[in-house]
Amino acid sequence: MLNHLFQFIGQSFTVLVFAVIIILLIVLILTHISLNKERLIFPKFMLAVTDLFYSPLKHLSKLLGFDETMIDQMSIAVRNHINKNKFKNTDNSKKIIVLPHCLRSADCEAILDETGLVCNECGKCSIGVIKSKAEDMGYKVFVVPGSSFVKKIIKNNDFDSVLGVACYEDLNLTMIHLSDYAPQGVLLSKTGCYQTKVDVRSVLDKIGYYDTKNKKEKSKPTADLEINQELCVKKDKHNY
Ligand code: SF4
Repeated sequence: MLNHLFQFIGQSFTVLVFAVIIILLIVLILTHISLNKERLIFPKFMLAVTDLFYSPLKHLSKLLGFDETMIDQMSIAVRNHINKNKFKNTDNSKKIIVLPHCLRSADCEAILDETGLVCNECGKCSIGVIKSKAEDMGYKVFVVPGSSFVKKIIKNNDFDSVLGVACYEDLNLTMIHLSDYAPQGVLLSKTGCYQTKVDVRSVLDKIGYYDTKNKKEKSKPTADLEINQELCVKKDKHNY
């Protein structure tokens, strides 16, 4: 009797492991197709499996010779897609932006306090540009040196949505961790530990900067608009 029970448990376990491996292989193939065709396939299913089996999927992906960042890319793209409207419809005063301190210039003189880097918008790097425009729109902006600061931000701030900037793996893991806050993510365009880069336009686009700017311009009288546009072109040396 006991032998039969152990045999049954053993067989069930083998079938289960086999089924999980098949599912992971299907997810890897669909991820590969999705990224190549730039079209998300079964996004919610893919996200559920990726969240549940993140490490095994990464190992299997590496073992089979797929791009190491493939799983993170897909997961970030799906989360951006699923949370887009919720993030957009959240009031800006309830949204935060978390930037990595590796974006700072080598000549940055900002000090670090318990909230992260205190950027004075000196203009030497993209952090100052994003911070200035985002804070004008009502966002809170944090520049953090590591995940321990992210935990403090979550604990000490009342917010409903978050936008993060980071490299593939850090961004994906942070978005998984903050999945209750309709996270949006923008990948660094140049990764590393020092003087990294991000496409500022992508960040501004995600926070609705261009939509707000267009709305403001449309509501102005035509003569004012022409004068202001001319001034903007002259004044905004970054031309964002
Ligand atoms: S803009 Fe801010 S983060 Fe960048 S170099 Fe200046 S003070 Fe440092």
